[in-house]
Amino acid sequence: MPGFDFIVIGAGIAGLAAAASLSRHGRVALVEQEEHPCYHSSGRSAAIFVRSYGSGAVQAITTRAAALFAEARETGLFDALGTARGVMIVTPAGSAESGEAPFRERLTAEEAARLNPILRADRLDHGWWEPGASDIDVHAMQTGYLKLLRANGGTLIAASPVRGAEFRAGLWHVAAGGESLSAPVAVNASGGWADPVAALFGARPLGVLPKRRSAMLIDPPAGIDIAGLPMVVDADETLFFKPDAGRLMLSPADATPVEPHDCWPEDIDLAIAADRYEKLTGHPVMRMHGSWAGLRSFVPDENPLIGADPAVPGFYWLAALGGFGVQTAPALGAMLAEAVTGAATSDPALLAAVSPARIAA
Ligand SMILES: Cc1cc2nc3c(=O)[nH]c(=O)nc-3n(C[C@H](O)[C@H](O)[C@H](O)COP(=O)(O)OP(=O)(O)OC[C@H]3O[C@@H](n4cnc5c(N)ncnc54)[C@H](O)[C@@H]3O)c2cc1C
Repeated sequence: MPGFDFIVIGAGIAGLAAAASLSRHGRVALVEQEEHPCYHSSGRSAAIFVRSYGSGAVQAITTRAAALFAEARETGLFDALGTARGVMIVTPAGSAESGEAPFRERLTAEEAARLNPILRADRLDHGWWEPGASDIDVHAMQTGYLKLLRANGGTLIAASPVRGAEFRAGLWHVAAGGESLSAPVAVNASGGWADPVAALFGARPLGVLPKRRSAMLIDPPAGIDIAGLPMVVDADETLFFKPDAGRLMLSPADATPVEPHDCWPEDIDLAIAADRYEKLTGHPVMRMHGSWAGLRSFVPDENPLIGADPAVPGFYWLAALGGFGVQTAPALGAMLAEAVTGAATSDPALLAAVSPARIAA
């Protein structure tokens, strides 16, 4: 294969966003081990955009992403944020957790049950409400990013796991499936595999820990029209549910550390989800229609890793995207491209909060 300017490893939503942003600055090879993009975490998420989610740094990146989602709609790149369904954080009666956070309005138990009649006021203490939370069309993002990448001369190389890399004469020489690729810059957007992929490049692993999160689809309670109802999360984050194509997506909000792999849910986690849902709402889970699990990857401070490796030349991280990688993807791609091209930033404090060097120090 001829040489590239950038090699991006991993065609999840982060790698797609980064590849599309970088394609404005040079020729990009986006390399993916699976047959299709977004096969792992990015295709298994709850796909909701929530401004109050995560640390201050994550909220700042989400705010930037909101502007870029709007820009993508205006330019016709993609239209991925649906109408707002809202998210409600509820405190069950007898619990001490509150769920208070920026961007949220307080609700009484009665107001919470009115907004989402799956809930019963007598089982709640109070709630917090973020009315602007919206569904995300991940497939529209994937399609738009690939289109932009290809329009700018970039290419997706699927079914090609990166197995080795060597830095010679200012270039990375990367073995990916049957291909040999070269570029001065490599970007590690390999999700739960970020540490083992870094090791292939001679970089020190930064402690990216994949954690399994499970979900299933259940029938909604009879007689309740769920289509426009808000997502519900309990204040302890031990449960969430949201409408999904006529059914309810229900999760025990599990976070079990695992090795990076093509993961699936354990029966016990699904049973726990059903039990917690029944206790919170009073409705029995009658039927499960399917289940899945995905990896959410974290470093200990739960901020992302965006930027240059502190020790290895031409090697960049875009990883540890926890439970916010989809909603922040447009901003992640832009920030990564700024780091690679050396563009000036208006927010040095944010850059420091996400810099890989903070872990290595
Ligand atoms: C149940 C669940 C609910 C979630 N809900 C939300 C939500 O509502 N909102 C939100 O924003 N986020 C949510 N998330 C988190 C979100 O899914 C992740 O943050 C995001 O998908 C991470 O994107 P990624 O591109 O880093 O990882 P991935 O999508 O996992 O992509 C990494 C890619 O790298 C590839 N790869 C790995 N190793 C190699 C190699 N050696 N060679 C080539 N390719 C390689 C993998 O095959 C994979 O395709 C949720 C996650 C789960 C599991």
